Amino acid sequence: MLNLVLFGPPGAGKGTQSAMLVEKYKLIHLSTGDLLRGEIAAGTELGLEAKKLMDQGILVPDAVVIGMIGSKLKQNPNAGGFIFDGFPRTVAQAEALDLLLASSNTSISGMLALVVEEEELVARLLNRGKDSGRSDDQDENIIRNRIQEYNAKTAPLADFYTNQGKYKAIKGVGKIEEITSALNEAIAAL
Ligand code: AMP
Repeated sequence: MLNLVLFGPPGAGKGTQSAMLVEKYKLIHLSTGDLLRGEIAAGTELGLEAKKLMDQGILVPDAVVIGMIGSKLKQNPNAGGFIFDGFPRTVAQAEALDLLLASSNTSISGMLALVVEEEELVARLLNRGKDSGRSDDQDENIIRNRIQEYNAKTAPLADFYTNQGKYKAIKGVGKIEEITSALNEAIAAL
C-alpha cells in the first residue's frame, strides 16, 4: 500500500499536486480542509463550529480532524493507498494517524514536503482568493495567521517524519510539471 503525506504550508501547491498523484498512483485523496468545507456547506453543527476557527486561520481541534480521517479510513477498507493532504497538522494528529494505520496493518510510506518561502505563499493565496470563494484566502491577516499556525504547530512534523526516515523535501517553486516529476522521483525512491 502506498500511503503518502503531502506536506507544506498553505499555498504550497498540495491540492494541485495531489490531483496528479491520485491519478497516477490510484490513491484516495483525503483533505481535511475539503472535508471541513463539506461540513460547512452541509450546514452541520461540526461545520459551524469549525468555520469560526477556519475564518480566523486557526487550526480546528485535533479530535475533530482525527475523527474525520478515522471514519474515511473505515469507509475505504479496500483502498490501494491514500494521500493525506493538509493532515496531519500537529504531532498529536501524526501519532493518531500512525495508530489508525497500524490497526489496518499499514503505515505511512513517506512524507513529501513542498518547500515555498513565505512571501510567495502570501502572493499565491491572495491570487487564489480572487476566484476560490474561500474567505480565508482573501484577507492577508488571515493568510499570515495560517502560515503562523503552520510554523508553530505543523512544521515540527518534519522532525517527526525525519526520525522515522520518511521525510523528503521537494522544491515547490517552478513549473507544475517539474514539481510533479520531482515528487514522482521521490516516490520511486521510497
Ligand atoms: P486547508 O484547506 O488545508 O488550507 O485548511 C483550511 C483550514 O481548515 C485551516 O486553516 C484549518 O482551520 C482547518 N484545517 C484543515 N485541516 C486541518 C487539520 N488537519 N487540523 C486542524 N485544522 C485543519
